Amino acid sequence: MSSKQLEQFLTENLAELKSKGLYNVIDTIQGANAPIITISGKEFINLSSNNYLGLATDPRLIEAAVQAAKTYGAGAGAVRTINGTLDIHIQLEEKLKAFKQTEAVVVYQSGFNCNMAAISAVMDQSDAILSDELNHASIIEGCRLSKAKILRYYHSDMDDLSAKAKAARESGLYKKIMVITDGVFSMDGDIAKLPEIIEIAARYDLITYVDDAHGSGVLGKGAGTVKHFGLSDQVDFQIGTLSKAIGVVGGYVAGKRDLIDWLKARSKPFLFSTALPPAAVSPAIAAIDIIRDTPSLMDRLWENGNVLKKGLTELGFDTGKSETPITPCIIGEEKQTQLFSKLLYEKGVYAKAIVFPTVPKGTGRIRNMPTAGHTKEMLEEVLAVYEAVGKELGLI
Ligand code: PMP
Repeated sequence: MSSKQLEQFLTENLAELKSKGLYNVIDTIQGANAPIITISGKEFINLSSNNYLGLATDPRLIEAAVQAAKTYGAGAGAVRTINGTLDIHIQLEEKLKAFKQTEAVVVYQSGFNCNMAAISAVMDQSDAILSDELNHASIIEGCRLSKAKILRYYHSDMDDLSAKAKAARESGLYKKIMVITDGVFSMDGDIAKLPEIIEIAARYDLITYVDDAHGSGVLGKGAGTVKHFGLSDQVDFQIGTLSKAIGVVGGYVAGKRDLIDWLKARSKPFLFSTALPPAAVSPAIAAIDIIRDTPSLMDRLWENGNVLKKGLTELGFDTGKSETPITPCIIGEEKQTQLFSKLLYEKGVYAKAIVFPTVPKGTGRIRNMPTAGHTKEMLEEVLAVYEAVGKELGLI
């Protein structure tokens, strides 16, 4: 009987998702996720990966992965607190600590479970969390898991944040109050107003939490958004991921020694999920050295972002309020946006449409993520294709 109910639930809900156009068609990439990708035997210029610095296919990272697997094996063998902590896990945490200029760092298996782990280890039902309405899904899940009262503020609206922080503090209802923001917002490429957030946090005695998944390796000489604003000693939690600019997989929290000790003692994925595999840890270590020693990589990323933004704007497209290489091209209506992405695809450009409910209704966009690995010729080709599709649809 219960499996019949499950079957009915799945049939009805899958049909609903499909009818609303919300069911993801998942493309399979043959080979590496590089600036040129192959899908069903056809090549595309790839503008949809978070491999910002092109490190995912860097021979030095690949070699580090091979050597680590040979030395340490394919898996870490246990959770960190049993005997899954290898010396390279400690080296990675030390390396990140120096990179982020904080007292300590703890590494998790992904950015997603890092947010789930960190928020719920510190906040509980007697607390409140002020959360930017555009924060990443993993932050939202972490907030829910914590059982704290969630108070969403309008995106980067400092008046709203300030008013909600004041009301929360003056209500006397909450013990701890935390403010959480992405450092760089992945749908628009805009940067959080951290100096103002820190000021509001000081005024209302808030714990500060910045998820810098898209700022690390991109801003602040690679150290991220917090460093970019010179606020390293004023943010309690700096979250990062090893899966984007670093080019591998994993997540981390950088902060004060006591905070990291607490997370190692209490956060569930650290205690109950097997440690990152060696072939992920060693390339991440190599990537941090490369980012620190090769500023030209970041320069190239920004240059490519600027070329794309300038080119799209000159063609008459709206690239929104992006302040980073993430370059949205706002199309507007949902179906038109999907069609635009499909036509780009047919002409050899892989750039995903992002529509409601991921972004507000009527603000559908193509999200372009150029990387340091894209060549000038690739970007020229992309702009030529955008021009052709824009004209075909009568948008420019
Ligand atoms: N936070 C933000 C802001 C993200 O964009 C992402 C990835 N989409 C994550 C966390 C999750 O990181 P990971 O892919 O390493 O799990």
